[in-house]
Amino acid sequence: MLQAVDVGQWSMAAYQGIVGDEQLARLADRAAPLRGLRVLHLNATPYGGGVSEMLRSAVPLLNDLGLTVDWRIVSGDRSFFDATKTLHNGLQGAGTELTAAQRDAYLATSRRNADLLDETYDVVIAHDPQPAAIHGLGDDDGTRWVWRCHIDTSAPNPATWAFFGPFLEAYEAAVFTLDAFVPPDLPVADVVTIPPAIDALSPKNLRLPETLARQVLDWTGLRLDMPLIAQVSRFDPWKDPMGVIEAYRLVRERVPRLQLVLAGSMALDDPEAWGIYERIRAEADPDPLIHVFTNLTGVGNIEVNAIQRLADVVVQKSVREGFGLVVSEALWKGTPVVAGRTGGIPLQMADGVGGYLVDDVPGCADAIHRLLDDPATAADLAEAGRRRVREHFLLPRLLLNELDLLTRLVTEGPAWRPHDPDTRHDPVCGLAVVPNAHTPSLALDGRTYRFCSNVCRNRFALDPGRWAPALDERP
Ligand code: UDP
Repeated sequence: MLQAVDVGQWSMAAYQGIVGDEQLARLADRAAPLRGLRVLHLNATPYGGGVSEMLRSAVPLLNDLGLTVDWRIVSGDRSFFDATKTLHNGLQGAGTELTAAQRDAYLATSRRNADLLDETYDVVIAHDPQPAAIHGLGDDDGTRWVWRCHIDTSAPNPATWAFFGPFLEAYEAAVFTLDAFVPPDLPVADVVTIPPAIDALSPKNLRLPETLARQVLDWTGLRLDMPLIAQVSRFDPWKDPMGVIEAYRLVRERVPRLQLVLAGSMALDDPEAWGIYERIRAEADPDPLIHVFTNLTGVGNIEVNAIQRLADVVVQKSVREGFGLVVSEALWKGTPVVAGRTGGIPLQMADGVGGYLVDDVPGCADAIHRLLDDPATAADLAEAGRRRVREHFLLPRLLLNELDLLTRLVTEGPAWRPHDPDTRHDPVCGLAVVPNAHTPSLALDGRTYRFCSNVCRNRFALDPGRWAPALDERP
């Protein structure tokens, strides 16, 4: 079995007052015919980076809407994640190509993970290249597979694409963040564009009163009576952390007490991050006003929330970017942003809405200085950015888009066959159950349901209609 990520429970009702009632009603309407649809989100890490950030909120909310949604991760060793990071970089256009050993590691580990996928789902959504090869390597059991690409694949390295593209041939649909990211010869006919979104209510984004935000950062050594700029990003060359340090140094010539925070989360699937972290430390350590934090040293969601809220300017100096959730996160908190004019960033903030878009280090330094120098304009820009995020980049909009896609997938193409409750599958987790005298079971309406464990049996007993809806309720 592939490792499941436990996301707990989360209620759509919490969004009342944040988005309009009619949007929440639309969500409930779209979800109703999909009640009981079994969906798997598959990626490579339960933390660190935008994909896990979104799944942590989207998965429990989709469950709350009545679908049966799991999140599982593929596993692999260092050679697999070295290969997938090279693949990720090559798909974003980097010159480095996969070695023969990396290609072997990718294939062998994908095959192992395909064997471990023994649960049944109506739809599997594989995120990014890490789990993408599993589909072609496993059994074809009628499940619809969607490739969800979060990176800029508009101009992939040709050798990388020649290796990777064929794995996508078996997919029913592919989802991209922007139309512009769709590679020219994508072997998938059904292509959809869905921009990501942030969860306004997650610990990272929920409202944090200023006094509390200050207390949260008490232990970090930051001086909150001095100007502060911050970049919150994985330590990745595309996020250009060294460029941020250069821009910071230029601004400091004019704002001598300026502090810089570089907060980076270490993801399971990103072995490159440690090398970049070391390089950043070598640059930053001699300067007591540069603070380098990671999720592994205690800067988690609440601290990131406080940093994004209390910074005078949030920087995201990416040179290549999928979406950059951090931009919406900062704008949602009313903090102006200076960001690279790349990928999904201009979709979130046009130049002059939310802050400024920049193309190089001097431009970045200039924009930061302009915002520090004119707090009234900075506040106006940030407010415009916050309005845009409220309108376009909050999770309910993303869920609506995803429900539309799921509806299309199960209504067009072969009919969605609900799982027969009398098969040997646990209706809650989907695991195959070989019945014996000790198998937990429950008789209801003349049917016997069998479970892998009492945990699943108890979940089922709490709300049987959710896990085994009547056949006539299904599309
Ligand atoms: N993040 C975090 N701690 C850090 C650095 C980043 O929690 O120290 C989070 C950040 O808040 C955002 C996600 O990681 O939610 C990064 O997503 P984004 O889309 O900006 O970039 P990606 O990592 O997916 O390329």
